[in-house]
Amino acid sequence: MRIEWHKIKKFLKAGWRLIIFFVMIAFVVTCNFLLFLHGMQMDEAEVRAMAPITFWNIILLTLLFGIFDFTRRAWMVTRPVKRIREGMEKIVAGDFTVRIPYIKGENSDNEFDSIIKGLNDMTAELAGVETLRTDFISNVSHEIKTPLAVISNYATMLQSGVLKPEQQQEYAKAITEQTKRLSDLITNILKLNRLENQQIYPEKKTYNLSEQICECLLMHEYVWEKKQLEIETDIEEDVLIYQDAELLSLVWNNLFSNAIKFCKEEGRVTVEVKRLEDKVLVSVSDTGCGISQETGRHIFEKFYQGDTSHATQGNGLGLALVKRVIDIAEGNISVQSVLGEGTTFTVSLDAKT
Ligand code: ADP
Repeated sequence: MRIEWHKIKKFLKAGWRLIIFFVMIAFVVTCNFLLFLHGMQMDEAEVRAMAPITFWNIILLTLLFGIFDFTRRAWMVTRPVKRIREGMEKIVAGDFTVRIPYIKGENSDNEFDSIIKGLNDMTAELAGVETLRTDFISNVSHEIKTPLAVISNYATMLQSGVLKPEQQQEYAKAITEQTKRLSDLITNILKLNRLENQQIYPEKKTYNLSEQICECLLMHEYVWEKKQLEIETDIEEDVLIYQDAELLSLVWNNLFSNAIKFCKEEGRVTVEVKRLEDKVLVSVSDTGCGISQETGRHIFEKFYQGDTSHATQGNGLGLALVKRVIDIAEGNISVQSVLGEGTTFTVSLDAKT
């Protein structure tokens, strides 16, 4: 049996308080009793004279104990309650930088300190959520304002009526591209929001991953041909997994589009699918610009774009989505990269047994 020392300590403390209280009461009663007995030995006139003294004596002692108890309460109860109330008023007003000072210390066994610790932890958590929320809003606003400004400028120029037909074509194309960028951004935000709020319930079924990877890869043919990339595949046939196919297609599409986007012209993209015991490994490699260590630490964060030269072709939400889907699928994603030489993303998932 484990001895719970903190409970024993609490019990002893409560006992100690009870003893002090008992000694105080005993002291008052004894004082009054002695005075009373003393009075009994007196004659009537003396008893009459002693009666008011005894009465005032009791009043005085009660007053003294009253003051003592009031001071004790003010120090030990009212002071912490006031401190907690003031802190909570600031938190309710939206100030999440507030940290309520402890009465005895963060790790003391004082009951008020345990409430203060709970409130301080909650405020720190709220401050984190608030920062995420404001960062998210400013990122989204920035991402929306940039294409809107481009659309507005080109539309104004188109309205001027002084443009040559080729220029008109060029500006109309730019407007279409920016509209697509806006639409992709909003689609990604909605998807991420639904994934983060657990509004998407994975619909798992057993399916052929090898086929899915080939289909997804082929969807990018137009872009890789335009960049004259070499595509190398080593895809084991008929690898089955038990997952939500639609969600995982988001992962493959994002990894393929990044590999193609960050690959140099005439570079190489390699896709491998392997079955290793009870795991399936999918790796996507490219001979692109690579990722620095500093960038690598942030790539799965929302709106993070390490390589700003490709900023217009994305919105920094792709890998955040990928990571969320892999977490839901209870898999793992890792990245190896050499700056200037290339990058490999490896996804590991449970194989269908
Ligand atoms: P986006 O591609 O829209 O910028 P992502 O979330 O897909 O956003 O990627 C975040 C960042 O990770 C990119 O801006 C880039 O810096 C880095 N990155 C992702 N994939 C690769 C890759 N294959 N090669 C080099 N950098 C990459």
